[in-house]
Amino acid sequence: MPTIVDIQNLRKSYAGGFEALKGVNLEIEQGEILALLGSNGAGKTTLISTICGITTATSGKVTVGGHDIKDDFRAARSMIGLVPQEINLEPFERVLNTVRFSRGLFGRPADEAVLEKILRQLSLWDKKDSQIRELSGGMKRRVLIAKALSHDPKVLFLDEPTAGVDVELRKDMWEIVAGLKASGVTIILTTHYIEEAEAIADRIGVIAKGELLLVEEKDALMARMGKKQLEVQLT
Ligand code: ATP
Repeated sequence: MPTIVDIQNLRKSYAGGFEALKGVNLEIEQGEILALLGSNGAGKTTLISTICGITTATSGKVTVGGHDIKDDFRAARSMIGLVPQEINLEPFERVLNTVRFSRGLFGRPADEAVLEKILRQLSLWDKKDSQIRELSGGMKRRVLIAKALSHDPKVLFLDEPTAGVDVELRKDMWEIVAGLKASGVTIILTTHYIEEAEAIADRIGVIAKGELLLVEEKDALMARMGKKQLEVQLT
């Protein structure tokens, strides 16, 4: 499969000199689900926000669909959907409006059929007139995904979509992610949970202390290491 996101020697130092990313190289293949496994503070959020151009890299290069995230931000960003870890939605806004507004922000033409398709895909259509504050945590996360999909991105980044979520809701999220893959979107998600990566990923990357220790096909990795050894890598 062709590469859709190309990351070369990506480094990020925060003020004070702390090196959160220590030279990450990664090629993300079109159509895959890549799970980035890492423990607290490993650098997962920093990696995602730096790839997406929300955080400025100290050095290195990222291209999305051939567009440089720094030099050609608008073109690169328009190909990216980003689902942040925290739920940053307007509590009094309605679901459909939230997604409609997001599409407008990206300068995409109004298209009610597209919005309906996205909401149906996430089983949110019957909630389209609900206010965000009326929704459960799981439903709010779906709205975040709908928002991220509103401008028809090619690549979707999900930052710990199941952090602090119970097992049943986590499985719902896995189904959603599988459905999105089937619709042709490339997916990168971060997680603490080995079983989550194992359940949904095509490839698994392990990130620890700002370094990408490995990236491997899931089946090969699980056969080579197994859960126990993988856990050791995470610490
Ligand atoms: P978690 O699973 O807890 O969300 P993470 O893997 O996403 O963690 P990051 O949030 O990327 O990790 O943080 C990586 C490291 O960079 C941590 O040590 C964190 O304290 C540090 N860090 C993150 N943001 C900043 C910042 N704005 N300024 C200074 N240090 C930061």
